[in-house]
Amino acid sequence: MKYIIGNWKMNGSKDMAWKLSLDLHQFLAANTNVQAKMVICPPFPYLPVTHDFLARHDSKLGLGGQDCSDKESGAFTGDISATMLHDAGCEYVIVGHSERRQYHQEADSLIAQKIVAGQKSGLNVVLCIGETKDQREAGKTMAILSTQLKGCLIAGIDSKKLIVAYEPVWAIGTGLNATGDDIVTAHAHIKKELTSILGQGGQAIAILYGGSVKASNAKEILSAPGVDGVLVGGASLKADEFTAIYQAA
Ligand code: PEP
Repeated sequence: MKYIIGNWKMNGSKDMAWKLSLDLHQFLAANTNVQAKMVICPPFPYLPVTHDFLARHDSKLGLGGQDCSDKESGAFTGDISATMLHDAGCEYVIVGHSERRQYHQEADSLIAQKIVAGQKSGLNVVLCIGETKDQREAGKTMAILSTQLKGCLIAGIDSKKLIVAYEPVWAIGTGLNATGDDIVTAHAHIKKELTSILGQGGQAIAILYGGSVKASNAKEILSAPGVDGVLVGGASLKADEFTAIYQAA
């Protein structure tokens, strides 16, 4: 089964969240032949309106948070715990997104603790990794992916509640996307590392691609060997684009 996960980032409104949930839910209800899991990750304040809608309609659309704290509760102003996300109806949480790494200086050691916290709360964790443009041009892509995986996947992590998203930083929100060959090579490398770090369980972990995925390139990306789905930013804000990506699965 492929995953089609939408990361709304810091976009939307209460009305938009309701309308987009309605459009996506209606699409899924009318297209039960597609064997793929669609998940949306709205900003925190819009989780209740989205969850209420999905629960009331017994929807197949999954819900996720865009980040969580590594802490359980307490004096951490502005943070949201994984338990709160679960309580709000989420089944998934994204951690280690390059925008969190870049604008909030999140290091692999912190992301590792967020994975532990997310899984402990019953969430499926989507771990984002990827190289910057400079790292790519210096020929360091595979080394960076290995370092990020080794730093984030510490003892106690449950491979059954883990999804990895390969998101080259230079491809996020830029309109540029990695070539099919780049994606296949990176995903094969990630699979090898996951198996070496987590053993047999690592083999079965879904590996998604993210970075300027849209309706026009989704089919090519989703049919590349080793691609178990896509993490979509900008194009997940429009029902017609996002459902066309889903259909490509
Ligand atoms: C993302 O935010 O994870 C992402 C891949 O963004 P975009 O699709 O806009 O490049």
